[in-house]
Parts: sequence; C-alpha cells; structure tokens
Amino acid sequence: MANLDMMRRLQEPNSTKIVLLVMDGLGGLPREAGGPTELEAANTPLMDRLAKDGVLGQIVPVGPGITPGSGPAHLALFGYDPIEFDVGRGVIEAAGIGLEVNEGDLAARGNFCTVDAEGKITDRRAGRISTAKSKPLVDKLRGIGLDGAIAEVEVLREYRFSLLLRGPNLSPNIEETDPLTTGQPPLPAVGLDKASEHAAKLVNDWVAEARRRLADQPAANALTLRGFSTDPNLPKFKPIYGLDPACVAVYPMYRGVSRLVGMKVINFDGETPADEFAAVGEHWQRHDYFFIHIKKTDSLGEDGNFDGKAAFIEQVDQAISGLLDLNPDVLAITGDHSTPSRMRYHSWHPVPLLLWAPETVRSDSATAFGESQCASGGLGTFASAELMPIMMAHARRLQKYGA
Ligand code: ZN
Repeated sequence: MANLDMMRRLQEPNSTKIVLLVMDGLGGLPREAGGPTELEAANTPLMDRLAKDGVLGQIVPVGPGITPGSGPAHLALFGYDPIEFDVGRGVIEAAGIGLEVNEGDLAARGNFCTVDAEGKITDRRAGRISTAKSKPLVDKLRGIGLDGAIAEVEVLREYRFSLLLRGPNLSPNIEETDPLTTGQPPLPAVGLDKASEHAAKLVNDWVAEARRRLADQPAANALTLRGFSTDPNLPKFKPIYGLDPACVAVYPMYRGVSRLVGMKVINFDGETPADEFAAVGEHWQRHDYFFIHIKKTDSLGEDGNFDGKAAFIEQVDQAISGLLDLNPDVLAITGDHSTPSRMRYHSWHPVPLLLWAPETVRSDSATAFGESQCASGGLGTFASAELMPIMMAHARRLQKYGA
C-alpha cells in the first residue's frame, strides 16, 4: 500500500500522456545457451531506436523466483502490490466480459471439456471449440435454477466461459474442479472451509444440471471450473494517480483487470496490434493514460513457437509508428511476465523494460531492445509495481516528497 499512498499524496495535474504497452509474456530465453532470445532474434528497428534514445531495465512482477499469473502481474504493472491485492481469475474474467461483479457475488472461470462414457476427461479444452460454437452452448446453460442463488453465464473466448452466482453467503474458498490432466473425471467443488460449503453445494448443483443439458454434445459434454473468487474492491486508479485511464485489450481477462481498477475499457474493431494502436489514436484526446495489451507473444510462447513469437514481436514493431505519431510523453514497453517458448509456460525471469520519455530520460548505452541489454540497462532491476511511480515522475505528475 505504501506505493499507492505515496502516489495519492504526491500526484499533481499535468497535460502529459502516458502509454504502457504490454506484450504478454514478452520475456524469453535463448533457444540454446549463448543465442538470442525471441525478442533479441526479432528484427525490431523501431524499438531499437527507442532503446537507444530511452533507457532499459528489468522488472520483477511478484518477487524473485516467483512465477506469476497474468492477473497479479498486471496489477503490479498498475502499481498495486500483487501480494496485498490478491484477485481471483474468476472475478477478473467476469468483469472483462462485462458481467457486473457486486459485493458478495461469486465468480468462476469455466472450461468446456470432453469426457468419455466413463466420465473421464479426454480433452480438457473440448477440442478448443470456437467462440461461435461456444455461444449456443452457453445459452443452453442460462437460467439454471438454484436454491439460494441466481446463476449467470457468459461466453469468454473459445471453450472458456464465465459463471457468476448471486446470492447470500457465497464464500469463494472452493477447490478448482479441473484435475489439470486427462484420464480423470472433473472434480466436485469442495469448500475448503466451513463458510464455503454452502457455495460449493450450489456450484455442484449447477454443474449437475449443466451436464444434463450438455450430455448430447459431441465435444463439449462436460465442464470444469477454476478461479472461484469474489469482488476484491480494489482502490481505483484515478483518485490514486490523478490520471484518466483507458484500456485497449482484446482478451476479456485484461479488460477485466483494467475495469476492476476503474479504467475505461475501449471497444474497437479488429485484433491486430495496428488495430489496437489505431483505437488508442481515436481516443487520444479523452484520456491521459493508455494501457495496451497484446496477447499473442504469450500464446506463442506457450505453444513453444520461438520463431512465431519473434515474428509477432516484429509485427508489433512495425505497427508501433502508429503510437509514436501520437507523441506520448512517456512510453513504456514491457511484459507482464516472461513466457520463454523453450519452457512453454510463464516463468519467474525478470521482464525486459524499455522506457522512452524524450523530455526527461537519462539514457544508458543500450543499442537495442533485448533481455541482455535490459539486464545491464540504466534503470536496473526493480519491482513491476514501481513502474507506475517512475512513469508518473517522467510525466511530471509527481510533486517532490518533503521540504
Ligand atoms: Zn500474462
């Protein structure tokens, strides 16, 4: 909380504009020792120029050696201590899809899956069915009656959906029902404390009826639930920083975490980095802080696709002129965490950071944007939650501390 209190106290108005560009899972590893990482292998002339004119560093999302989920990693980028503010994925995704999560509501993230005749999971993602195929299935699950709560469902993307229960006494301390492997049936929802037993029973009742309604489906004939959580009541961005923030993101989860801290979530057409940057341009006059989220760097890392991840970073680089044309005062380019394609998973490695602020930046000797240069960059290595104060300072939006 120290950070946020300090920001509330020191922030002062200015007309400057801040852009935070997050390439999810940006940090990588070389394919073999001594080689370049994905970011280093990518040909990125524009970001390299920004690295020369700006300053590099590394950020640590949660703590040394801790592999973060994207939720806490983003809260840290917004300046919130990700350990103090522990927000469940269910709530983040529900908020992202536009479900209103009120105090006391219980949210979870659902996956359609495939089970065999014995009820054992054969595909945890139901063949990755498309959003278009998921929609009518989610419609089938609407209006399931429960004794003690009202259930709402919305499709997220592909095989994923969001479940929200509204009612009294819904404690979220419930074990996830995804066994995280095939060959086993979905687990029952189990309350991990006395207070959560009631909600766990309602969840099981809901699942039983949902499975009856899905029984004749070829792929999505069952489901699992994860990330049970309730409204975290996060302090809001604007009174903390005095900034009017906007979020440009394609995926519900990132729209959700932005909404939970009080950002305006911008709707726009398209999904490419260029589409996202164009959306920033269209709303440039209305906000003074823009969070832009790019997902594919993480997905390609999780696919183990080194070349694909590098090629996608090149695509971001080509589009970035659209952002620079807007003349932001402060631009930070970073990731929420590392997702090295060699590991096919999120990792604990520090995340490369590029800070560009032409009026105030103290340059280092960097010549290109990449992990090894970031490791010796002028900003050093620090906690992700410290990035906001640094961006605020470069935007000349912080008074001095003390006389
Ligand atoms: Zn992430």
